[in-house]
Amino acid sequence: MTTEATVAAECEYVRVAVERGIDRYPDGLVYRVDSALGAVALGSHVQVPLGRGNSPTDGVVVVSGGGELLDRGLDPRKVKGVLTVDRSQRPLPETVVRLAQWIAAYYCAPIGVTLASITPSAVRKGIGHTKQLMVDLAAEPPPGKVHPKRARILEAIAALPSTQRPAEAAQLQEQCGLATRAPIVALVRSGHLVATHRSVVRAKWASEAIPEGPTPTPTREQSAAIESIGARLDGGFSQHLLFGVTGSGKTEVYLRLAERVLNAGKSVLVLVPEIALTPQTCGRLSARFPSLAMAILHSGLTQAQRHEQWLVAGESAPTIVIGARSAVFAPIPDGRLGLVIVDEEHDHSYKQDQAPRYHGRDVAIRRAQLAGCPIVLGSATPSLESWWNATVRGASTLHTLTQRAPGLRTPRVEIVDFRVESRLRPDRRVHLIGPTMEGALRRAFDDGGQAIVLLNRRGYANWIACPDQGCAWMMRCDHCEAGMVVHLGTELTHGMRTTRCHHCGASQKVPLRCPRCAKAVSIFGLGTQRVEEELERLFPDIAASSGIVRVDSDTMGSAADFHAALGGFGRGETRLLLGTQMIAKGLDFPNVRVVGVISADTALNLPDFRASERTFQLVSQVSGRCGRGDNPGRAILQTFQPDAPAIVAAAAQDYANFAREEVAARTRYGLPPATRLARIVVRHAVREEAEAIAATLRESLAALDAARDAEVKEPAPCPIARIADRWRIQIEVIAPTAPALQKLIAQGRNAGIIVPGEIVAVDVDPVALL
Ligand code: ADP
Ligand code: ZN
Ligand code: ZN
Repeated sequence: MTTEATVAAECEYVRVAVERGIDRYPDGLVYRVDSALGAVALGSHVQVPLGRGNSPTDGVVVVSGGGELLDRGLDPRKVKGVLTVDRSQRPLPETVVRLAQWIAAYYCAPIGVTLASITPSAVRKGIGHTKQLMVDLAAEPPPGKVHPKRARILEAIAALPSTQRPAEAAQLQEQCGLATRAPIVALVRSGHLVATHRSVVRAKWASEAIPEGPTPTPTREQSAAIESIGARLDGGFSQHLLFGVTGSGKTEVYLRLAERVLNAGKSVLVLVPEIALTPQTCGRLSARFPSLAMAILHSGLTQAQRHEQWLVAGESAPTIVIGARSAVFAPIPDGRLGLVIVDEEHDHSYKQDQAPRYHGRDVAIRRAQLAGCPIVLGSATPSLESWWNATVRGASTLHTLTQRAPGLRTPRVEIVDFRVESRLRPDRRVHLIGPTMEGALRRAFDDGGQAIVLLNRRGYANWIACPDQGCAWMMRCDHCEAGMVVHLGTELTHGMRTTRCHHCGASQKVPLRCPRCAKAVSIFGLGTQRVEEELERLFPDIAASSGIVRVDSDTMGSAADFHAALGGFGRGETRLLLGTQMIAKGLDFPNVRVVGVISADTALNLPDFRASERTFQLVSQVSGRCGRGDNPGRAILQTFQPDAPAIVAAAAQDYANFAREEVAARTRYGLPPATRLARIVVRHAVREEAEAIAATLRESLAALDAARDAEVKEPAPCPIARIADRWRIQIEVIAPTAPALQKLIAQGRNAGIIVPGEIVAVDVDPVALL
């Protein structure tokens, strides 16, 4: 007689997190593993039957074991069996599986969506896999003579060291000078060789020239940071904030620490904001560690490249894994990760704006905790969250670099009051570049220097309206509560002016006349295209030799475009780089004499409590791009608000003061980092529906137990009240600590009040509130 207990004891069981969009079972569902399937390790990709129809569903094994998994009174005879195991993919490391579960819980995201977003689709689909023919000598070749030409092939294999056998047919063919592979295949047929196939992933790489420079000797400040973080490398998890002014040589600190970890046989994970910084940082890393394996993971790779790099990251040998946000999931084997570095940790591109809405920096901290290794967050303008952790909470150790690296000069930063400057022009045309900036650029070019000009808004102009104030017509998107932005001639429009919505992507032609009163329509406002037009007018010689390059997401369709643009600037072919925040970060070019900020207050008046912080960061970062050679460099900040504290502090390069004031203000208003915030957005095509759902949700949430330790605000329209035809109502939830916030969200989720999906989006620790 078989009892339930004996059935259970004899079998292997797994818990599988299924990758469908259902927001349930983050701990996985229990399945039986029949012995025919072999052992199924944690992290394996499997197919399991799901639901009444038993439809085959992909999933990942989150626990593997025996009968002990059958808790909660599960009848083993009712447990379904795993259908298939995908042996072509390496199982995910346990750390990565735990990370996914943590994300699903913390960021209130369905486990399925979270797991699915971890493994690149190229890996899942096997893109880039090619089969190689491998041959080796047969153990018992047929008797008789072999043709001398073919005998040469057999001798060549016999001469190979055992590590190189079986031999790759293609290599053998080359080695023996064979015109075709036919003689090798013939030897397989005749039984002299045995053939096997090896599956490899090999991507085409556009290899980059790597700059080789002498290794600098660390400064006293750099050494202090290296030594004090270095002393913690073997001590398990620790968190460090490396606060170093722009050009203070933070990268050198990373490199020295990485060197120690790699020498100790462990791997290093380096995160950089989106594709912008990968080429330069990769160049520096591979120049320093030319013989080491390096895996590069970012959105600009082809599918095959991504697959290849993912496999490299999974090697046990010491490897540098570098990439944007999603590289935090790199499959570095358990126990192999020795150090995590997050460069430009303040950057908002670390936050993913769709589910799972995770913050790459915070996930990296969690990963370091799980891996038991140190993490270094670096920035010249730390996020107030990281500053708070280091200076108030004591959760991380602060290391400061106050001086620029030897050979770099501190740029002079000038605030230009644009209300005054714009009156200085004799003509009455609207100019975006005032006399001060124009003069500085002209001087830089005359001296053979280069310049960077920033305007954080793409397109031509963002204001299309009737000039008649009584009429007040303004062009808005048909699908969003937002204005349209003029974009100049794309092929589609044959040079006609079209507008685009930056929220939903819709485009429309610009009407010549006001649809209400038929007056000729006016176009105002700023955009990088318009700055480009003005620069071309001011500096025709430089424009004529293609010396002006615009870098924004309209011109940079791919990472390769961006690499090319930076390459041209590095070689000096490009004299002026004009662009959005893409050019504000990390770039290190010694010949930049002038940095111009067209409108330092672009982001200052956005309805977001981080508007000041963002402005400070952007302006300080871009100013730090000059003064990296023997010339001190000038940064010119045009602004209509010359007294705004964020701009004054950025010009004075006084982060500490800015942070103190801003933290005090946030504390006063009960905002992060002094508290924790989550934002629940209800989205619906029918406005009243959105409002009704939000009202019910708010009421149920506020009635929960855990709501006593949190504040659940009344529903209110989002600042952009409709995007892509869906109305948006937000509920802000504020709690004194992360655990208090988590408790409320978990209760809301378990009670079915918060069901993340199409209608309800939850953003924990949001970085933008529009
Ligand atoms: P950050 O990332 O802090 O802005 P970088 O790491 O880009 O600064 O360093 C700026 C420049 O200074 C780089 O070109 C780097 O090679 C150089 N540098 C860094 N440390 C030193 C040093 N100790 N001696 C000389 N040059 C250095
Ligand atoms: Zn729109
Ligand atoms: Zn009108």
